[in-house]
Amino acid sequence: MSRLDSFIARMKAQRDCLNFLQPEIDRLPGPIFEVGLGNGRTYDHLRTLFPGRDIYVFERQVAAHPDCIPPEDHLFLGEARESIPRAAARLGATAALIHTDLGTGDHAANVAMGEWLGPALDALAASGGYVLANQSLKVPRWERLPEPPGVPADRYFLYRVR
Ligand code: SAM
Repeated sequence: MSRLDSFIARMKAQRDCLNFLQPEIDRLPGPIFEVGLGNGRTYDHLRTLFPGRDIYVFERQVAAHPDCIPPEDHLFLGEARESIPRAAARLGATAALIHTDLGTGDHAANVAMGEWLGPALDALAASGGYVLANQSLKVPRWERLPEPPGVPADRYFLYRVR
């Protein structure tokens, strides 16, 4: 698989997972959290899937497409390790959906990040809500679900919060 093939497959899997969750999230109250704005592609997709829903975003430095920048009162700027606890103190464990897409190609760094990222996000996650992550996150309260149909194994990690 070329790097282009791999990129396309990853984007398709990401979109398929978000689309798969739509009916479940529609049934749940509570906001959505986007962890890592990047270009704003998945933020824009979330806005399209869930119009009118509160979507809070974490990003250390905004560099997204100008049309995909969240309103200031829905943006937690800075290092996620500090801003996620700040958000949890303000909003509580209310999230219907957390989508996290941080990390790099450095596997060891991603594993180290997962050690604090999972527990930090757990403080935002409502019981019965969902977490979709681009890396494995081990949190006792989260039950891993199978990949949605057509999504390759272990490309994305889907959890339901007990
Ligand atoms: N899902 C996004 C999209 O569709 O455009 C792409 C997200 S991109 C892969 C990851 C983003 O997370 C980058 O914009 C980066 O600045 C941000 N980021 C990475 N680590 C972070 C951290 N520790 N705290 C805050 N933001 C972080």
